[in-house]
Amino acid sequence: MKSSLTVLGSNSALPTSERFSSAHVFQMHGRFFLIDCAEGTQILLRKNKISFSAIDHIFITHLHGDHYLGLFGLLSSFNLLGRKKDLHIYGPEKLQDIITFHTEYIENEMSFSIVFHGINKNTTVIFEDKMLTVSAFSMKHRIPTFGFLFKEKLKLRNLKKETIKQYHIPIKEIKRIKEGADFITNDGSVIPNDILTIAPPEPISFAFCSDTMYNENIIPIIEGVDLLYHEATFSEEFSQRAKETFHSTACQAATLALKAHVRTLAIGHFSARFKDVSILENEAKTVFENVIAVRDGMKIKIS
Ligand SMILES: [Zn+2]
Ligand SMILES: [Zn+2]
Repeated sequence: MKSSLTVLGSNSALPTSERFSSAHVFQMHGRFFLIDCAEGTQILLRKNKISFSAIDHIFITHLHGDHYLGLFGLLSSFNLLGRKKDLHIYGPEKLQDIITFHTEYIENEMSFSIVFHGINKNTTVIFEDKMLTVSAFSMKHRIPTFGFLFKEKLKLRNLKKETIKQYHIPIKEIKRIKEGADFITNDGSVIPNDILTIAPPEPISFAFCSDTMYNENIIPIIEGVDLLYHEATFSEEFSQRAKETFHSTACQAATLALKAHVRTLAIGHFSARFKDVSILENEAKTVFENVIAVRDGMKIKIS
């Protein structure tokens, strides 16, 4: 499996006996990215059999307690386990002060370094390696809040092996051809690239949007993603409450999914008042067919 989203906690502000608050693991090509780290996250990592040592990058959307208060327990456990690898934390700039305050009071010196990457409204790409990029973008919430876009990089084209012999392609030309160039033979004939290569699979993309009120400004950013996770704290009955608290209804999340032509919509960050979240899923489905109302422990595959 190339990519997946594991939902550790799907509730908003208050954890319930059934649902923890915001925490998710996005996995791509063997990399594990923790998105939000509410209270209980380390227990949920254990329950979902995700190794602590696999987590090298943590993305915090904003500084409401239901999104980051589990961070300090996790940092403490990393320290007790003698972690050596650097830990990269990405979040609103003020988070740095909070982390510094907590780590100062840890009894022994930290066994690992925290590399903090502050995000502000002008920040764009916050992580990049040879497989993917992660970008941050602003949400519309009561305090500075960021969404994250994970984008797999387009791979090189696959060269059809038999064409090497057929057209006497020298090794030094292979890289250029894989990048899309045509091949010119010794007698000057042009062999078009699509005869020599097969297009690579479409790159995968995933957008995480929570917490936020309905905001069409993000449509160009999330346009066409394979999976959109969007908060749906309330049902339509509570649309006024959603507006007042800078949250979204399930129908609003679905409207964005529809307008941004995403493939699949996952809704979460549910208000604790909904014991059964099928009401939210059904409301969203009246607008956009391909909706999943997430639950804790759910793993959504992206292929
Ligand atoms: Zn929240
Ligand atoms: Zn919030």
